[in-house]
Amino acid sequence: MLVVGSVALDTVETPFGSVKMALGGSATYIAVAASYFSAPIRLVGVVGGDFPKKHIEFLEERNVDLDGLQIVQEGKTFHWAGKYHYDMNARDTLTTDLNVFEKFDPRIPDGYKRSSYVCLGNIDPVLQRQVLDQIQKPRLVIGDTMNYWIEHKPKELAETLKVMDVIIVNDAEARLLTKEPSLLKASKRMIEMGPKIVIIKKGEHGAMLVTEDMVFSAPAYPLENIFDPTGAGDSFAGGFVGWLAKTDDLSSNNLKRAVIYGSTLASFCVEKFSVDGLRDLSYLKIQDRFRSFLDLSRFDER
Ligand code: AMP
Repeated sequence: MLVVGSVALDTVETPFGSVKMALGGSATYIAVAASYFSAPIRLVGVVGGDFPKKHIEFLEERNVDLDGLQIVQEGKTFHWAGKYHYDMNARDTLTTDLNVFEKFDPRIPDGYKRSSYVCLGNIDPVLQRQVLDQIQKPRLVIGDTMNYWIEHKPKELAETLKVMDVIIVNDAEARLLTKEPSLLKASKRMIEMGPKIVIIKKGEHGAMLVTEDMVFSAPAYPLENIFDPTGAGDSFAGGFVGWLAKTDDLSSNNLKRAVIYGSTLASFCVEKFSVDGLRDLSYLKIQDRFRSFLDLSRFDER
């Protein structure tokens, strides 16, 4: 499995605490979440000379292959700062210092060119396509995007959507992209744009999986304490793709399982700041929470 996206230092404030320059970035969360299923995860990204060695060591411990991580010694790592209020479904972005990420040119090492599962984190859709141009016949291409690209690069995004198999967006992005208020209609519209599988994340309200012949709705795991929602969407993507890469089974039933694994990893992520919620998981711990999803909405029809 190959992941391309941001590797960042995040400064985050929530009503329950704050962190400064902590490990973050879309590719980081995706890779760490996926590493619990499928290893090694190949990561392509860029950081500056200031990127702490302890973060490199942590990623290596999680079996993330860093041959594709470019280190620009004279530059600074991408820095994002955000603030959450009591309703943690919305956040204010305070700072986006692109730094070395501004000139990111994703070069895929030769050893990565035959990756079967390719997860394109939230980057410029032009760069997402450049990545795909370097890869030989992937089995599944999963892509993420955000409001910035939907508003500023709609034509480029439309081209990239044509070569994505799965799109993962949140509810606001789905509505912005398709101009459809109904999420079901928005999903169908996205299927017409290219991807055959659409996933819409709805924060604490769960996630929806839509294909041409199926609609599946999964709850989010109910948590009493959410400390930091940063990375929830990316951890979802990592759990989802990691499970598919591990099982190599794209049947409807397995796609549904993958959505629940995605929700499971997202639920661990938000329990702590930065990637701390994903640090010390085990397959058993993940399985335990995965199974508890069954009881959340199973009922006796009689
Ligand atoms: P999520 O909460 O899943 O949407 O992802 C949060 C992560 O996205 C943070 O760790 C940020 O470092 C990263 N991020 C924020 N803005 C951008 C951006 N414009 N491009 C790439 N990554 C970003």
